[in-house]
Amino acid sequence: MFGKLLPTHIYKDIYEITPKALCEAGIAALILDIDNTLVTYDDPKPTESVAAWLDDMHDAGIQTAFVSNNHAPRVEEFCDGLGCYFHAKAGKPSRKYLREAMAHMGTTEKNTACVGDQLFTDVWAGKRAGMRAFLVPPIKDKRTLFFRAKRLLEKPFLRLYYKRKGS
Ligand SMILES: [Mg+2]
Repeated sequence: MFGKLLPTHIYKDIYEITPKALCEAGIAALILDIDNTLVTYDDPKPTESVAAWLDDMHDAGIQTAFVSNNHAPRVEEFCDGLGCYFHAKAGKPSRKYLREAMAHMGTTEKNTACVGDQLFTDVWAGKRAGMRAFLVPPIKDKRTLFFRAKRLLEKPFLRLYYKRKGS
């Protein structure tokens, strides 16, 4: 079970994930978390830099989909006009909508990766679905006790990731 909580790779932000790196790794599609991965909770739409990053992916033939645990109005507003598969209230770590996203894009767990900022939802869902799971640090965490507790619980797994990577 622990292996399913270890990200395939930790990037410093989404901009470190390039079409070139993805093509070399045989990845044709990304299933993206929204909040704190692409933008903060306060950004209703993709920022200019996120929109440019998505354009770069699409230009390179990399498909994107959005699977979020947030509510529908937030996810619908963010994804409006992007022309991609999206699903709100996805219940990650459930794999259900990652699988649905792959079916929609016509990709498989071998050539699809997920990207998110949380181990217990994003990474776990992706690994359970058998795909590569990329972690990025949260852009700006909510300062609630619940979030702080979640981040604390992630720490041992992050230490394990860096230990294995270093060895
Ligand atoms: Mg998130």
